[in-house]
Amino acid sequence: MNFNQAVELIAKSSRIVGFTGAGISTESGIPDFRSPNGVWANNRIIEYQEFISSRAGRIEYWRQKVAMWPEMRDAQPNAGHLAFAELERRGKLLAMITQNIDGLHQRAGNKNVIELHGTTVEAECLTCGARISMDEAVKRVEDGDPAPECDYCGGLLKPATISFGQAMPALAMKAAVEASQNCEVFLAVGSSLVVYPAASLPEMAKQSGAALIIINRTPTPLDGIADLVLNEEIGKALPLLIGMTVG
Ligand code: NAD
Repeated sequence: MNFNQAVELIAKSSRIVGFTGAGISTESGIPDFRSPNGVWANNRIIEYQEFISSRAGRIEYWRQKVAMWPEMRDAQPNAGHLAFAELERRGKLLAMITQNIDGLHQRAGNKNVIELHGTTVEAECLTCGARISMDEAVKRVEDGDPAPECDYCGGLLKPATISFGQAMPALAMKAAVEASQNCEVFLAVGSSLVVYPAASLPEMAKQSGAALIIINRTPTPLDGIADLVLNEEIGKALPLLIGMTVG
């Protein structure tokens, strides 16, 4: 499939799934994980097991969160997020599936967002499920409580995101699988497509007969099964692909 054929297919289809990774938010100033200047270049990964079993691990986890919070909180949706919001407004989007935790799809106007890895705008008690805003949690850390606990039950407070080693949210995953198996076009945008089970969704869509279109700056392991791969910047390529005029 060439670019023009993809534009035509998207113009005709009303069953499109958007699937995004950290790459869609780099143009909003939020670093991704795997690029040379990404989060992993400067931070040690604290997996779920370490978070729950070690206070030192929790302190390091919260230190990283607090350091990253201002740029997450202040980030604005960019042309890529706005393109997906436009697809939903046109009634063409079955679901907006994201691995991101930054809430930028919702802020761009998407209503039907499936968050596979949770959200960083709140912190959740791992024992009773009570939530507080990230602003409040960060303030507690900055005020001298380096690994905050729940006010109600004393359980461990953790950003409401899914860490490595933590179970996926079952309902979100079920909805994502259903949309992926029922779409006509699967648009995988700004994801290295190496994090499973999220990366199994484009494979499922392809097996169910959808056209798979990948937009990513660098190659991905699924390029071989894609109908079209665009190694381009998302903010330029995605609006053109969905037929928006770029301002
Ligand atoms: P990733 O970091 O593994 O991959 C991002 C990909 O996007 C890379 O292959 C990179 O080449 C590409 N990319 C970056 N900027 C781009 C641009 N402007 N145009 C085109 N391509 C671009 O991200 P992932 O696949 O989402 O996996 C990492 C995990 O990290 C996710 O599960 C997510 O939960 C989490 N994460 C989220 C955020 C966020 O919410 N914004 C930020 C960092 C990490």
